[in-house]
Amino acid sequence: MSEQMDVDNASPSPQPQQPNKPKKKRFEVKKWTAVAFWSWDQSNETCAICRNHLMEPCIECSGSGKDRSNCPRAVGVCNHSFHLHCIDTWIKTRNSCPLDSSEWTLKEVLQN
Ligand SMILES: [Zn+2]
Ligand SMILES: [Zn+2]
Ligand SMILES: [Zn+2]
Repeated sequence: MSEQMDVDNASPSPQPQQPNKPKKKRFEVKKWTAVAFWSWDQSNETCAICRNHLMEPCIECSGSGKDRSNCPRAVGVCNHSFHLHCIDTWIKTRNSCPLDSSEWTLKEVLQN
């Protein structure tokens, strides 16, 4: 009987142990972790998206044996740089810089 009362009481306020809704919550936590994880990479010698060095081709180009000179770097107005291929794919999902979450605007493209 006391169990039923518990459930009734819990529904208006967020209860961490409630087995019904943790899915959404967990998602949020995961996102936060990712953002925090990336912020150490501010010096930006490495592409924060594929983790390859920016002087090297992106992970896609280095993996497929394509011509590495065809993998330019993209620099945003926030002065963060990524492989053009990587940020191209990234902004299809969300139009924001992966490092500082500000809106991504392409400033220049540099050929390696
Ligand atoms: Zn990359
Ligand atoms: Zn590439
Ligand atoms: Zn940025």
